[in-house]
Amino acid sequence: MTSGVLAQIDLTALQHNIARVRTYAPKAAILAMIKADAYGHGLLAVAQALSPPLPSSADGFGVARLEEALFLRQHGIELPILVMAGFLCAEELEKMSEFSISTVVHTLEQVQLLESTSLKEPVSVWLKMDTGMHRLGLPPAVIPEAYTRLLACDNVAKPMTLFSHLARSDELSSTMTQEQTDLFNRIVHAIPSAAKSIANSAAIMTWPQTHMDWVRPGIMLYGISPFANRVGADFDLQPVMTLKSHLIAVHTLSKGDAVSYGSTWICPEKMRVGVIAVGYADGYPRHARNGTPILVNGVRCALVGRVSMDLTTVDLRPCPQAKIGDPVVLWGEGLPIEEVAAAADTIAYELLCHVMSRVRFEYRYV
Ligand SMILES: *Cc1c(COP(=O)(O)O)cnc(C)c1O
Repeated sequence: MTSGVLAQIDLTALQHNIARVRTYAPKAAILAMIKADAYGHGLLAVAQALSPPLPSSADGFGVARLEEALFLRQHGIELPILVMAGFLCAEELEKMSEFSISTVVHTLEQVQLLESTSLKEPVSVWLKMDTGMHRLGLPPAVIPEAYTRLLACDNVAKPMTLFSHLARSDELSSTMTQEQTDLFNRIVHAIPSAAKSIANSAAIMTWPQTHMDWVRPGIMLYGISPFANRVGADFDLQPVMTLKSHLIAVHTLSKGDAVSYGSTWICPEKMRVGVIAVGYADGYPRHARNGTPILVNGVRCALVGRVSMDLTTVDLRPCPQAKIGDPVVLWGEGLPIEEVAAAADTIAYELLCHVMSRVRFEYRYV
């Protein structure tokens, strides 16, 4: 037993979850979104677990930055890899060509660079349309011209893919997904030769009209619900990461005793309080409130007092037998990360991306 924090990564759950994507969208190819170190789960291990010849393999990978794509190529990953940010200069474009990495094109500056650079091999292009999110993408009115120019450009492999990103697909009562999809369809209707893509996890799970040729699941691959107030298990998704630690001290405190920095917890009665070897330096959220659920010996307990850098304190009243060395689950199996995120006023995506490098990772097929 070590006193450090362990992130157990269940690759069987990952494979189960991608099979769920296939069930939701049986006709679509899957671009597995593994940006941000595979949402904190480990870029290479996740890419390997989703690569052929495994039956659960993806059809391609989406990463945020060129560095992530190059790392995957250098470590033997052969599926198509799409860089969501695209390229900023000719050097990056040349690297993409050399390592057969696909790029997003979302500005006319990028179209211009593709036209003016000489590449050894053409690159695959996903042309991004802004249908209302107003983050990345060309305005719909500019897409036909950009597409025509890219079609004529020898540096661009054909066919291309046209895609857009949804801003509110996790909100079932919002009309925005339908509006964005309609706008997208109006423009791409005239371009039958291109593949199309618009769906993220929430759209895969609830908007079949968005599935098209490629779906782009992220959070659901990791077993997590994209919808507020729901958890992955509601959709037969299994958590991939379980974050674990141990009790390293147990105290019996008196009524009126204060716990941790700022004395934000005052014991209402004589009670036992445990000290867990986990803190915000591991990625456990400092803003987790009193009452945030924590499993001690598999029993639901509540966080009390402020989370500190290396330590977190827990109310042991539900768990009278608890002792030093007992196992603690911060999130994952038996404790949905969605609940922890809600108690810390954030989303599971952020908690996953914040797991720190001192946490030990263990990969296993269960
Ligand atoms: C991250 C990302 C996704 C995946 O989103 P989830 O909500 O995690 O499924 C899909 N498309 C794009 C463009 C993304 O950046």
